[in-house]
Amino acid sequence: MNESKTYKNYIGGKWVESATGTTFNSINPANKEEILVKLQKSDEKDGDMAVDAAEDAFEKWSSMPAPKRGEILFKAARILEEQKEELAKTMTKEMGKILIETRGDVQEAIDIIKLMAGEGRRLYGHTTPSELPNKFCMTINLPVGIVALITPWNFPMAIPAWKIAPALIAGNTIVFKPASDTPLCAIKLVEIFEKAGIPKGVLNIVTGSGTSVGMPLVKHKKIRGISFTGSVETGQIITKEAGLKRVGLELGGKNVIIVMDDANIDLAVDGAIWGGFGTTGQRCTAASRVVVHEKVGDKFTEKFVERAKKLKVGDGLDPETEMGPAINESQLKKIHKYTEIGKEEGATLLTGGKILTEGKFTQGFFYEPTIFSDVTKDMTIAQDEIFGPTVAIMAAENLEEAIHIANSVEYGLSSSIYTESINNAFKAIEKIEAGLTYVNSSTIGSEVHLPFGGVKNTGNGTREGGIKGIEEFVETKTAYIDYSGRLQRAQIDIE
Ligand code: ADP
Repeated sequence: MNESKTYKNYIGGKWVESATGTTFNSINPANKEEILVKLQKSDEKDGDMAVDAAEDAFEKWSSMPAPKRGEILFKAARILEEQKEELAKTMTKEMGKILIETRGDVQEAIDIIKLMAGEGRRLYGHTTPSELPNKFCMTINLPVGIVALITPWNFPMAIPAWKIAPALIAGNTIVFKPASDTPLCAIKLVEIFEKAGIPKGVLNIVTGSGTSVGMPLVKHKKIRGISFTGSVETGQIITKEAGLKRVGLELGGKNVIIVMDDANIDLAVDGAIWGGFGTTGQRCTAASRVVVHEKVGDKFTEKFVERAKKLKVGDGLDPETEMGPAINESQLKKIHKYTEIGKEEGATLLTGGKILTEGKFTQGFFYEPTIFSDVTKDMTIAQDEIFGPTVAIMAAENLEEAIHIANSVEYGLSSSIYTESINNAFKAIEKIEAGLTYVNSSTIGSEVHLPFGGVKNTGNGTREGGIKGIEEFVETKTAYIDYSGRLQRAQIDIE
């Protein structure tokens, strides 16, 4: 039943209405008539209030011993574990992806929060000898300050958690602006931190659009750091407007699977199905290109198309469903536009290519799993991030050509090679321009304790996850302690 409960912003430890007095709806992409909840349609004033609350909370939070901050994170992880199934169902309703994937999304949030909670007892700096006697040198990690976290809709809890957890453990206070397609999941995550005892003002959430809430935060004088995951276009705008703030960017991908002639073809097909159509292709790590060695091209393609045709599309809550809807109407139209472009540019449509409109599909944003072959590296569908269930198959004569094709895009997030040859595997790891290379598994499946991020237009060099993921949220302080009792001059008194 449609409850249409209205959720509020969480600012300074209180759930408050927006100054605008207006709301927007969060709907179910499998059934657009179903309004899940209403949320505050906030603007700059709400963002300003949240920044002020984060400023007030900063001194106390950043002074709290990091292991104590970690205890709150551990508690949040435990509550998430208790609520995992319920949260996964909410996420499937709001975002569309199938239940096994939304369970994975919640699990990823749990994992990163636990990892960062443990970091409370490390947060390592380093020590090193001084060039002078009776002098000690070290670095420590201090928080950046008030940070704005701006997130997309495709991982409605995992991506916010990838940012919130390291930001908190390092002692920052937060203004969180979630995507407008999945604000309920974001609110649920904040509710959990509230239950876990996060002090007021440390974590604030303001819902609303990118232009009316996100951009004022990006420009706000008191915000010291921005962590953004989303499109390249928005990433570029943010970089331009942020001035000298620290900016962490996770942008798009045009990820590749290379299938060599010595590959286990069935395994490669499994990987291409999971990478291409998992999350309806709406992952920044989606395998939207498959480059196949020409000797095994026909065999791979036949099996891949056969499997894609059998995929069950539908409501993600149905346990039979293997691929859910696209997130919204404009995304659906964008996916279809790329099908038209692919056909116009001369690629061969092997399966799919249509918006699903009949029967159970009438109310949702469903698209057929779509595969093109005869794609060449300069075609639009081989270059642009489609963010949908569309895979482009390309042929290569050998590994060198496959890697050349792999690298012929502006992005560099994830990549994969299927081969039984250790030489091929290591060459791919070394030569593919991407932040991630998988061998004999798909382009997706990052684990939280390893760095995640990309090269080229995928970002600006920051990494999330792992211990490296904390770097985005810390300022390094270098400390020199001279216990000689006399003036000692570096570079000068060095005899
Ligand atoms: P997508 O909507 O495809 O995930 P976007 O880059 O448009 O990709 O959005 C990602 C996040 O960035 C969302 O939370 C969105 O509201 C926010 N956003 C969009 N435009 C801006 C902007 N100009 N300034 C700040 N945030 C923005």
